[in-house]
Amino acid sequence: MYAQVIVDILNSNVDKIYDYKLDEHSITSIGSRVLVPFAGRNVEGYIVSVSPTTFYDQAKIKNIIKFLDKEPLLNEKIIKLAFYMKKRFNIRVADAIRLCLPPQVRSDMGAKEQIIVRLKENINLSSIRANATQQIALIKYLHEVGSADKVELVKKFGLPAFKKLDSYDFFETQSQQKFSEPINKFSVEKKVINLTDLQKNAVNEILCDRNSIFLLHGVTGSGKTEIYLNCIEQVLREDKTAIMLVPEISLTPQMLGRFRNRFGDNVALLHSMLSPRQRFDEWYRLKTGKAKIALGARSCIFAPLDNIGLIIIDEEHDTSYFSESNPRYYTHEVAKYLAKLYDCPLILGSATPSIESYYNVKIGNYKLIELPNRANSSELPKIQIVDMLSEIRNGNNGIFSTAFLLALDECISNKKQAMIFINRRGYSSFVMCRECGYVPKCEDCDVSLVYHKDENMLKCHYCSKRYKALDKCPNCGSDSIRFGAVGTQRIVDELQKLYSNVKILRLDNDATSQKDSYINILQEFNTTTPAILVGTQMIAKGHDFNNVTLVGIIDADLSLHFSDFRATERTFQLITQVAGRAGRSKYEGKVILQTYYPKHYVYRCVANYDYKRFFDKEISLRETTHFPPFAKIVRVLITSLNDEKAYKITKDIYDKINLIKKDYTNDFIYLQAMKCPKKRIQKKYRYEVLMRIFNKNYVDIIDRIYKVTQNTIKDVSIFVEENPQVLS
Ligand code: ADP
Ligand code: ZN
Ligand code: ZN
Repeated sequence: MYAQVIVDILNSNVDKIYDYKLDEHSITSIGSRVLVPFAGRNVEGYIVSVSPTTFYDQAKIKNIIKFLDKEPLLNEKIIKLAFYMKKRFNIRVADAIRLCLPPQVRSDMGAKEQIIVRLKENINLSSIRANATQQIALIKYLHEVGSADKVELVKKFGLPAFKKLDSYDFFETQSQQKFSEPINKFSVEKKVINLTDLQKNAVNEILCDRNSIFLLHGVTGSGKTEIYLNCIEQVLREDKTAIMLVPEISLTPQMLGRFRNRFGDNVALLHSMLSPRQRFDEWYRLKTGKAKIALGARSCIFAPLDNIGLIIIDEEHDTSYFSESNPRYYTHEVAKYLAKLYDCPLILGSATPSIESYYNVKIGNYKLIELPNRANSSELPKIQIVDMLSEIRNGNNGIFSTAFLLALDECISNKKQAMIFINRRGYSSFVMCRECGYVPKCEDCDVSLVYHKDENMLKCHYCSKRYKALDKCPNCGSDSIRFGAVGTQRIVDELQKLYSNVKILRLDNDATSQKDSYINILQEFNTTTPAILVGTQMIAKGHDFNNVTLVGIIDADLSLHFSDFRATERTFQLITQVAGRAGRSKYEGKVILQTYYPKHYVYRCVANYDYKRFFDKEISLRETTHFPPFAKIVRVLITSLNDEKAYKITKDIYDKINLIKKDYTNDFIYLQAMKCPKKRIQKKYRYEVLMRIFNKNYVDIIDRIYKVTQNTIKDVSIFVEENPQVLS
């Protein structure tokens, strides 16, 4: 017998199947992780199939050295999926397989807990040599930031520097669980719920047709989650398993609580906030059948389940379902393929479906199920559009409109809660010299730095590099430095002046860099009235607080200004989601939306909860301008530390694609090569070849593009992105 093996090496040149000899009795070994001799060394690999014969010279075929686990790690369907992903997303099979296994399986387990490092007090710096630049840099860095993850330090300054300093006994270390059982801290009351007729019909429709893709379009609070829970319950009764995906950010404690209440230990959580050890444990519970429901973010679609009976993608419009960094894939496509393999239904749920998904309903690919009302018969909150220009004309140039301040006053005096949404993070988005216009930028990236008030630091949001805050302009010496637009902290400060006795909480990436504090903030808000929660995108989704009667949207327009064809769609989605946090229980909710473009159709549609009108408007625009879903956008991204090399490769790729275009003149809408909007990130120069291609011959064309972009050039990375979510 022969085994066909994929070696676990991330190199496109060896991304193919290799044959090895297999003992007769090892037929059931498909999916096993093995050690094989390869190019003069021993490497790990995966058996993807077995066969009685081989096309190669039998005498030259080597033996498998050993099997690394008691049982195969992958099943045949996952292997099929890996090959599909190679074809569909142009990624290596080994990349796809790695997505399906927790890293601990491949490396030694145990030592994976996060280790936090601090400098001891009174260290004797004289033991460091003056030319030990990495060691000095490490100490400076630790001195600046206080504490850091060991992995981060080793990555930044190298293992030798770290080890040397450790040998001087300079460090205090502490191992830390990243996330300790969130659910224990946040219990959710068990409610007995009788499904409404609409909910019952939805559950029936899904369970009676196991070969379809369903778009569940239900307004916020319409009881979609209740439908998921009931469908899963039925699938478990049939002894099958289920996958439920949510955007990372909306895997709220409430959501988890509802799943645990219903299914107890049958739920396994796959989430980035777990420590590597916990992640492995959860993976293992699924693998061994101890848990039957995999709940988690994007990568949870690769959960090690057999016999999948249902796949759910909640908040299906969310951008986090696109994996933008290597390996690049789109979760919906993976889920569709898996659902087909298992003959199971796929549910895409959202209050604001993506234009592309809703279009799939229109052309008959998906079945539509609608829930136009809230489940507990509470009304959707009324959305009031406030024209900020007329506020200024009336002499109010503050952050808050008069209407908002009145509504907030009423909310607070009724001892209720308000949520204030702001489309940014940090205290202010940029820093500028008032005299000469100087804006500090990151040394490694072509982007402006962001001021963080609580630490009094400037940070680069692309590479996390930190800089001292400016007190003088390095360009002209002026000390008149302006801190740009409004951020969460500033709003908290202003509100605290108005309501000194009211609890005001803040939820954004800065406030929650300690993972546990996220839960703590929500917990505190949940149990305090009156209270105000100020936050960024993090408060937009999923949360279900009973006492929130007011939602304020401070700068609705911000996402409108992105130069992206999806900007209006995103604005519609974001505002509908934020608005949906208000009035979810018996108290009426209200939303104040502050904008400088009160007449924009996106706000009209949002205020009337008129998704269909919005869709019609958007889709006809996309059709006439030839944008997705009527065409595909493809970007070839070329990055390198070497500017000249990157430029040369870009030109070369452009020429080759131009040749392809000659065979398909009517299919190309656009083709252009240029520098990226962000010309440099993490010291790498960035170029792009951007094109738009009609759907008709797309598969053939992209195949040829993949071929001419196969990367074998040293020091240059080339990525092909299909419909990229951000073009930075
Ligand atoms: P969605 O997922 O669409 O936002 P949820 O399933 O979270 O909606 O339901 C919103 C709220 O309504 C929750 O508090 C839930 O417990 C409640 N709810 C859902 N279905 C019903 C029902 N049939 N009867 C009463 N309350 C319900
Ligand atoms: Zn200046
Ligand atoms: Zn940077």
